[in-house]
Amino acid sequence: MVFKHDVLIVGAGLAGLRAATEVAGKADVALISKVYPTRSHSGAAQGGIAAALGNEEPDSEEWHTYDTVKGGDYLTDQNAAEILAKDAIRAVYELEHMGVPFNRTPEGKIAQRCFGGHTSNFGQAPVKRICYAADRSGRVIMDTLYFEAVKKGIKIYPEFHVLDLVFRDGQVAGLVAYELATGEVHFFHGRVVLLATGGYGKVYKVTSNAFANTGDGPALVYRQGLPLEDMEFVQFHPTGIYGLGVLITEAARGEGGVLRNTDGERFMERYAPTIKDLAPRDMVSRAIYTEIAAGRGIKGSDYVHLDLTHLGEKKLAERLSDISSFVKIYLGLDPAKDLIPVHPTCHYMMGGIPVNTEGNVTDEKNGIVPGLYAAGECSCISLHGANRLGCNSLLDLVVFGRRAGKNILENLDRLAWTAPPAFPERDSLERIRQLRENKKGERQVVIRRQLQKVMMDGCSVFREEKGLKKVVEALGELEKRANAISIDNKSNRYNTDLIDGLELLNMLPLAEAIAASALNRTESRGAHSREDYPQRDDEHWLKHTLIRRTGQGVSIGEKPVTITRFEPKPRTY
Ligand SMILES: Cc1cc2nc3c(=O)[nH]c(=O)nc-3n(C[C@H](O)[C@H](O)[C@H](O)COP(=O)(O)OP(=O)(O)OC[C@H]3O[C@@H](n4cnc5c(N)ncnc54)[C@H](O)[C@@H]3O)c2cc1C
Repeated sequence: MVFKHDVLIVGAGLAGLRAATEVAGKADVALISKVYPTRSHSGAAQGGIAAALGNEEPDSEEWHTYDTVKGGDYLTDQNAAEILAKDAIRAVYELEHMGVPFNRTPEGKIAQRCFGGHTSNFGQAPVKRICYAADRSGRVIMDTLYFEAVKKGIKIYPEFHVLDLVFRDGQVAGLVAYELATGEVHFFHGRVVLLATGGYGKVYKVTSNAFANTGDGPALVYRQGLPLEDMEFVQFHPTGIYGLGVLITEAARGEGGVLRNTDGERFMERYAPTIKDLAPRDMVSRAIYTEIAAGRGIKGSDYVHLDLTHLGEKKLAERLSDISSFVKIYLGLDPAKDLIPVHPTCHYMMGGIPVNTEGNVTDEKNGIVPGLYAAGECSCISLHGANRLGCNSLLDLVVFGRRAGKNILENLDRLAWTAPPAFPERDSLERIRQLRENKKGERQVVIRRQLQKVMMDGCSVFREEKGLKKVVEALGELEKRANAISIDNKSNRYNTDLIDGLELLNMLPLAEAIAASALNRTESRGAHSREDYPQRDDEHWLKHTLIRRTGQGVSIGEKPVTITRFEPKPRTY
């Protein structure tokens, strides 16, 4: 079938929902999502959303901007950080007025708590900047925004899996999507496509991310020969449940929890004397690995303990109830009495589809791709630089999702309908045909597991040249094998075997982009830590990486960092 809408938004997480609710009523908008909208990963966000409301103690937009820039190890484009911090206050009150049930102070104001890297007075001490609803902040914001979308009558296509973008003469003409319930492949004709497809933590073995986080949006863009930005910067969250990767929110430390090594020592005091356990995630993850390497993991093993025992049952029940139940269910432990085994888990992608602060997809020279937009975790503004601060993502989604929506409306009249090519579904159908008809190929899960292991072993928290070269080589081999995989299930109804195969074909090129960009950047900055180049090197590397896929492998370009007022300084906490 052919569907036709002015604006096609791919992804019903918070970024897609916020953009869609901005456009609704003023243009014909469709929201397309491969999972049922309210199952998007935004709903799993625990800790909260940052805004310098100053409800519990003095705070300022300027401090928030500074923390975002410093947290990003000065790779942050500072114009974007300024917009984020300034608009945060409006954005949180907007959510409150829509009905988000934030926790309250005794006087009835929105309550706030501490989080990693958020400080007062330019780094002096942790500050209470995070607005939250217990430890299910994403859930309540998602449900509220989804209700807005339904109220506004937005046309939603649930469980439609987008397979390809369709262009004609460099201009967006629409996209191709596979309907899970029927196995039909449809063309969506549109004047604008906005990608809000979220992260791709699933390229790693241990991750906090949902199963759907396979990076389809960036892969679609990359397949068109367009560049991706800063792919080497992958965030590992320090406190994943050991062995599982399920997240224990940083709010656990924001509320007073501490990390301990096998000697019971609160080791973060040595690594970040000022803000200790509330240092940014890249530093805490490295500290954990360093402790483990020095034999101070618990009983010589490869994990450390998160200690919440001193918080008391009341606080745990009121503010950290979800993670308390995770710990009980998955580990059979009681956080009020027991220490929790934790280990870094792949959590967030700083890199992605390059966009400007208005959501337009851009290239190395900041030229705009007509009609193509991106927002949320799949995009790279670059707001989070080399390392995102906790609770700046939910904020990013609602601030920059809305801006993208506004920009789309302002420019819609100038974007003509582009006639699609004669057979827009051709490439997608060909990929599906191959997967169905290959007879003797391997099963996708075998290659998926190897991909995740290769990335975990050679391209996670610490990296070095030899290991990265091996990763790139291994990924090339895996991609060759993946092109010949075959699927067992040949049916047309909810064929998840087929979808898993299609997702694998998206993940492999993205993994290669991460590893090749990491190999290229011969310095250590934020979440990219090279053991063979341990120093940050502003002289050569204060710039963004842009990677493209060409017929002859990858080609790497660059783009300058926008610095408005904070000159790069050594990053200590
Ligand atoms: C466990 C966890 C806890 C977190 N806690 C916090 C927190 O407390 N505070 C904070 O600021 N950040 C937090 N984050 C980060 C934050 O939640 C994410 O960065 C953010 O939710 C991403 O939102 P998004 O709108 O970009 O995408 P998502 O919410 O991931 O949604 C992606 C959407 O794209 C759709 N999609 C993807 N591919 C396709 C396709 N091919 N076709 C059609 N649709 C597609 C999906 O169906 C989905 O609707 C957390 C992340 C995790 C994993």
